[in-house]
Amino acid sequence: MMKTIKGIAASDGIAIAPAFRLVEPNLSFEQRTIDDPSQEIDRINAALEASKKELEIIKQKAEKNLGTEEAQVFEAHITILSDPEMIKQITTEIQDKLVNAEQALADVTDSYIQLFQAMDDNEYMKQRASDVADVTKRVMSHLLGVELPDPALIDHEVVIIAHDLTPSDTAQFDTNLVKGIVADLGGRTSHSAIMSRTLEIPAVVGSETATNDIKEDIMVIVDGLTGDVIVDPNDDQISEYRQKQTKYLEEKAEWQKLKTKQTTSADGKHPILAANIGTPKDMDGVLENGAEGIGLYRTEFLYMDSNELPSEDDQFKAYKEVVEKMGDKPVVIRTMDIGGDKKLPYLPLPEEMNPFLGYRAIRISLDKDDIFRTQLRALLRASSFGNLWIMFPMIATLNEFRSAKKIYEEEREKLINSGVKVGDIKLGIMIEIPAAAVLADKFAKEVDFMSIGTNDLIQYSMAADRGNECVSYLYQPYNPSILRLIKRVIDYCHLEGKIACMCGEMAGDQIAVPLLLGMGLDEFSMSATSILRTRSLIKDLDSKKMAELVNKVVNEAETNEQVRQMVIDAVPEIKD
Ligand code: PEP
Ligand code: MG
Repeated sequence: MMKTIKGIAASDGIAIAPAFRLVEPNLSFEQRTIDDPSQEIDRINAALEASKKELEIIKQKAEKNLGTEEAQVFEAHITILSDPEMIKQITTEIQDKLVNAEQALADVTDSYIQLFQAMDDNEYMKQRASDVADVTKRVMSHLLGVELPDPALIDHEVVIIAHDLTPSDTAQFDTNLVKGIVADLGGRTSHSAIMSRTLEIPAVVGSETATNDIKEDIMVIVDGLTGDVIVDPNDDQISEYRQKQTKYLEEKAEWQKLKTKQTTSADGKHPILAANIGTPKDMDGVLENGAEGIGLYRTEFLYMDSNELPSEDDQFKAYKEVVEKMGDKPVVIRTMDIGGDKKLPYLPLPEEMNPFLGYRAIRISLDKDDIFRTQLRALLRASSFGNLWIMFPMIATLNEFRSAKKIYEEEREKLINSGVKVGDIKLGIMIEIPAAAVLADKFAKEVDFMSIGTNDLIQYSMAADRGNECVSYLYQPYNPSILRLIKRVIDYCHLEGKIACMCGEMAGDQIAVPLLLGMGLDEFSMSATSILRTRSLIKDLDSKKMAELVNKVVNEAETNEQVRQMVIDAVPEIKD
């Protein structure tokens, strides 16, 4: 039966394909006393064999889709399944205790997991614990006859249906086959949404009920432009959306023509349109979309994708690769923004009631300054290979900025004294905390640039968790209160001759862009896939007219909706 689910539009485009549920099945079982151990031993052997075969296929697919390195984890899983000691223990347990295969498997693998976890200072062993847990799930699924979803096994076009998506899920996606994403959780600025934009996969998040409502293999339409998900559409709807898809792709092709053109407004202004990245792997998308810089490199992914703190050299290589690929274009690299929803398995942080208001980002860097110094040295060393700027996240006070700058200068001096070549680095802060936005006049005297992080600035101004779909209506980028804060930051930057940037998702929002142009924003940094569409919009906008619109909006408007309507009325080019 056809049904429409309304979620949050997270990544542009239309997808039409059958559902692939990336939802963990129920693997619970009951302990049974058995009378025929040989039958249970046959069952466990068959489950082990089936799991091995499956892992071989997954490994081959992963090698093809993701590369040898990423596929190694599956080899490790096969090795665990073939461990004679473990198999012997499971068999003995069945024979001695007369328990069913499920119970014997759980008991033995649990003891391994606990043993590995107990060696908590050994990263390698901890990784083994999670490998054993993964493998156990697979064998258990065969014993219970339920299917375990595996993104690496996808062999036809699908729409992924998930409760939430982690970076390791998306890393396994073959973007030729994963055509769309629907997630129960998340908001426009949740990391799952940002990742789908980076991968250019149409996505709807915050759907709340998708995993309940959408069965495996059922046809699904994902409208990443409106947030609609149509389950089991009829033929008319499919052809309607095919047309919409074609129109979108035609528009996209039109924007492509601007790839090598400099961003220019109708009255000849040249704001920079830059890209946000999470890893050097995102650089292909950046170059394909004609970015004029990198406005935000989220370095925390370097820390999250690793089993230990990344070394100075590993960091140096990543930063150097990015700045070199961008030539003389600016690359703004943000120091580690861990905390909030971004955790490091090897850096235990205290449990907090309010992690988004807690120990994170620059607060950790200033506290654990050895980690911070390593990162700064890597950045300083990479700086001579391109046009590298450094930015500190989550700055609340001037003293935080001064302390960070002092540490930076100490490391800079040490490196220069030891003969290392260091580039001409600009030092800036993110404006994500309302306190810093309000004090922008003072900050502007001390920093080289500011970059407004609206994802957090809006969350903190509205006191509304950016990942919580129940309060997503409070993500109001056009609310006059937010616009006044942003205008204040840009105005004070310019008063002191400093550069005003924005790297929150709002910078690529088609309603916000005319206003930001009117405020004189110097650099707009966004998901790479939004750049050409924004360049196309700006070419039709007159910055002076937009400045008049801004004045009217910040002085007269009362609500988010009102501003939205005022912009749509003033700018007919916006395709809503
Ligand atoms: C922001 O807060 O707007 C931002 C760009 O940073 P992140 O999304 O990584 O928190
Ligand atoms: Mg932020």
